[in-house]
Amino acid sequence: MKEFDILILGAGIGGLSLAHRLQSQGLKVAVIDRNENPGGVISSSYKEQYQCEFGPNTVLLKNELRNLVKELSLEQLLVKPSKKAKKRFICQTADNGKRKMTSVPLNPLKLASSSLLSASAKFRLLAAVVPRRRHCDDESVQRFMSRHLGKEFTNSVVAPGLSGVWAADITQLSARSCLPNLWKLEKDHGSLFLGLAKTISKRRRKAKPEIVSFGGGLQTLTDALSRKLGGYYKEHSVEQIERLSNGSWSIKIKNLKNQREELVESTAVVLTSGQSSTAKLIKDFAPKTAKTIARIPSSSVGILHLAYNKKAVRHPLDGFGCLFDPQEQQPLLGAIFNSSLFPHTAPPDKHLITCFMGGALNPENFKISEQQCRDKGIETLGKTIGALERPVVVSGVEWPNAIPNYPLGHHRIVTEVKNFEFSNPGIFCHANWLKGLSLNDRVAESEALANRLLVFLQSRRASYQYKYKRSAHG
Ligand SMILES: Cc1cc2nc3c(=O)[nH]c(=O)nc-3n(C[C@H](O)[C@H](O)[C@H](O)COP(=O)(O)OP(=O)(O)OC[C@H]3O[C@@H](n4cnc5c(N)ncnc54)[C@H](O)[C@@H]3O)c2cc1C
Repeated sequence: MKEFDILILGAGIGGLSLAHRLQSQGLKVAVIDRNENPGGVISSSYKEQYQCEFGPNTVLLKNELRNLVKELSLEQLLVKPSKKAKKRFICQTADNGKRKMTSVPLNPLKLASSSLLSASAKFRLLAAVVPRRRHCDDESVQRFMSRHLGKEFTNSVVAPGLSGVWAADITQLSARSCLPNLWKLEKDHGSLFLGLAKTISKRRRKAKPEIVSFGGGLQTLTDALSRKLGGYYKEHSVEQIERLSNGSWSIKIKNLKNQREELVESTAVVLTSGQSSTAKLIKDFAPKTAKTIARIPSSSVGILHLAYNKKAVRHPLDGFGCLFDPQEQQPLLGAIFNSSLFPHTAPPDKHLITCFMGGALNPENFKISEQQCRDKGIETLGKTIGALERPVVVSGVEWPNAIPNYPLGHHRIVTEVKNFEFSNPGIFCHANWLKGLSLNDRVAESEALANRLLVFLQSRRASYQYKYKRSAHG
């Protein structure tokens, strides 16, 4: 039986960045993934003359990710968004039923003159300087934001913004777990405005995190990590995990090409899989935690890449993209104007737009493989951007249950998972359904987990040596 120090289930950004950290410490690491290609949900490729992202499109380059990019010598391949694409739009439905894109002022002072909010909503925002302490251990994003910034701002700006990230219903999303920085600001300062003002003045002294991608798309990052790893079990699935009497773990893996099964042994096992896959693997030795994990809700998203002749679109699309109100019964969550953001992704006379469809409030709309669903998305986008002709559908993909939605009280699930890891030494959960959805969060979590794993392996080796000495001395 092959033996490893650490077996990592999943070759997404979480698994690969963790493997990279551990391998550089000289540990024997195995990575296993059922897919043919590395990257998990990250997948970039050319379709005709268009460079398409099938999962995430951009990443916020914070410290941990910046360091990883440096270590992999990928800095030269980073691309920054075009300066012409700074605006962020929100789609609003006017009184006459027409859809229009309104630019969201990035400067709070400019909000005063924006048509995005009513006079009373703008006035309500001023009251955000008043400290508002909470009296509960968690509340919905909707309640938290309304308490600080008012209902209208929350519904018109926050709901579309967060729905573009979490594809969720913000009345069901945990503020404590989804907005940990704002939650802490409230705890420390009472008022979000005062807290933000203080952190912004501190941050001015540090490098500002930037939104970036790579010339070859985000997959450049996971491809580089996979090359550095030198090889892994691709197209293999983890079927079963069992504890051995020596405290290590026996893992049954299956080659999905020839259906052959093999047992490997590892001192530690890291699970980066989604809720249902993880629950299935641990249910025999932790049935209660398996049920808890399986119950964490998630939303399904469909991605549609559309190409338009620039001449046939009235709006200049001079921004990052447009977010849609999830409360309105329409199919789109958001649209990224890829060719405005990164001009190299399309020929100069074309617009490439990535539409995100579905989400928790309109779940059936993620099925972009169905003509009717695609048509609804195309029609909504067309009316919003002023399209004069039908676009070419370049490609698309469906992601069922791909985005976890941290429910109210999610911090208690995190505690339960910690207790589960404590009672099953050597098993670690490292997944976006637990803590941190963004690519940056996943890389930062890998750093933290690598340190915990090193301590764990050292303590295991020390206890082996102690037992070995005791048995050698009778
Ligand atoms: C459509 C979409 C758009 C997004 N957009 C952004 C964005 O713009 N910016 C951003 O920062 N984040 C974005 N995110 C979030 C971010 O991409 C993910 O949270 C992150 O990539 C998850 O990485 P991961 O390694 O934890 O999991 P995954 O990428 O899901 O990898 C898990 C891997 O485990 C494998 N696996 C599971 N079970 C088994 C098994 N039993 N045996 C073998 N292998 C198994 C799977 O095949 C998969 O490859 C987006 C997510 C989605 C779905």
